[in-house]
Amino acid sequence: MLRCGPDDIETLIAAGLPFDVQSGVRHFDVNDLYNLGMYSGRSNTQPELAFKMLFRFAGRPVEDLLRPRTWDFQVRLECADCRTAAPWHFEAPDAGRFGGSVTEVAAPARESAGEAAYTATVTTTGVRTPLISPALRRLTRDYLAAGYRWQMVPVAMQADYRLVHALGSTSCIAASLLLAERFREAGHRAEAKRGWFCGVLGGALDLPHASVEVEDDDGVLKTVDIAKAQLAARLSADTEAFQELCLGSVYNKVIPSTASGNAAFATHGCGSRTPVHVRADIRSLR
Ligand SMILES: [Zn+2]
Repeated sequence: MLRCGPDDIETLIAAGLPFDVQSGVRHFDVNDLYNLGMYSGRSNTQPELAFKMLFRFAGRPVEDLLRPRTWDFQVRLECADCRTAAPWHFEAPDAGRFGGSVTEVAAPARESAGEAAYTATVTTTGVRTPLISPALRRLTRDYLAAGYRWQMVPVAMQADYRLVHALGSTSCIAASLLLAERFREAGHRAEAKRGWFCGVLGGALDLPHASVEVEDDDGVLKTVDIAKAQLAARLSADTEAFQELCLGSVYNKVIPSTASGNAAFATHGCGSRTPVHVRADIRSLR
């Protein structure tokens, strides 16, 4: 993953890379390794190569991101320490909010134990609706200029968005929660919402996605995908059109959900304290 030899690993540990020892073997945190690889500057680590490939689309003409696209949307909900049959709650895709649709829905059975499924056909589309409010544009610009470093951050920690930013870091959910708060302080209706970022590596990227939905001065609901704009800017200089699209417009690679920015996609009423694991398989239909 890091294209490192054993000597390099010893150097990293001496410099403070955290680990713990289980049965005599050193274990590292996957987020730590990912962030280390991303910012190593070696250009051959797995995270650097993966992100370059994932964001190739961001350098292409944005018209491709504005046309309707249809997805085979399948999600498995798994309750690992399930205690009994109980109702499921799933924050479903809600593409209708931005001109798309959700059809052929098969929702989880009313009550079951262990696991359940949600399937649907989802159509997304894009529309160019850049932010027009000078206050919203200024807040967005200020955020981008603040120099927070995008990192892989565990979802539970992202909800503590003040801590994440105090460390000089950012991530999709933490960024959206903070920006939504600033938009509200400026007098706009705004909320961070979770969704699925699709159409990369043939399925959904297992990266937590969130963006801010904000009512602009023209009364139109806009989405600000601040972390994607920042990430695209870091990865490549030829992504300016995509970065601008992230600041208000809607694009067809994101399926919005009904979940708010710091909420789980699914819960099970069985009483287990282990969070429900949500496994998404979202494929483009031609
Ligand atoms: Zn359960």
